[in-house]
Amino acid sequence: VTARVEGEIAFSRDGLSHLLTDFVRAGYSTVRFDEVRTDDAHLVLRHDVDFDLRFAVRVGEVEAQLDLRSTFFIMVRSECYSILDGAAKEHLDRLAEQGHGIGLHLDASLYAPDELAEGAREELRILEWISGRPVEAISFHRPAPHLVGSDRGAMPVPHTYEPRFTKDVHYVSDSQGRFRFGTPFESPAFHERRAIQLLLHPIWWAGMVPEDAEQRLRALVADRSHAFASRVARNCAPYRDMIR
Ligand SMILES: [Zn+2]
Repeated sequence: VTARVEGEIAFSRDGLSHLLTDFVRAGYSTVRFDEVRTDDAHLVLRHDVDFDLRFAVRVGEVEAQLDLRSTFFIMVRSECYSILDGAAKEHLDRLAEQGHGIGLHLDASLYAPDELAEGAREELRILEWISGRPVEAISFHRPAPHLVGSDRGAMPVPHTYEPRFTKDVHYVSDSQGRFRFGTPFESPAFHERRAIQLLLHPIWWAGMVPEDAEQRLRALVADRSHAFASRVARNCAPYRDMIR
């Protein structure tokens, strides 16, 4: 079986749909982290949610339409969104309805090394409480080099940078809005139909039309500024009067 891999990869919802369809045509099926087998045509689809849960829901929708299952890694201590706000619970419920799993996206730099496992346990509890679902794995946010390829150690659940997920299976990621280290289709693992962990950041794929990283980020910041002004106005009469 040869996959029909067509042209350039577009960073949009359509582009994502085409990219994943090429995996399906090549015989790949999506599996959870605890199911992946090195020599099988297994695709472990991972999404680290750095900026906005709405992007996650849009990407999750594309994958649900293709009957594919991925794991969305969500931050409990994020500078960019809060899982405690009202809309977040709806977004997490949507991801569950779409059939996707949940993981913890953990910023290890917030903890001393000997407190990391305990911090992970506490964040896991909060994420499970809010989502109402078990957390399957941990991925580190902007991981320090010593964490990449490290063993599970004292972590309460598996983490995505363990050797079995990064060395035994081919690991490929979009980075800064492009495939800086080659597309998944250029890898020997793809040609030999062996397992691949594919990390895609929802922000780059959630748009209706292809946009570059700068456009996506500018749009996000503008949208958030506007939304924040509305929130301040809702909660504070003097500001409502100011902007009238
Ligand atoms: Zn991250």
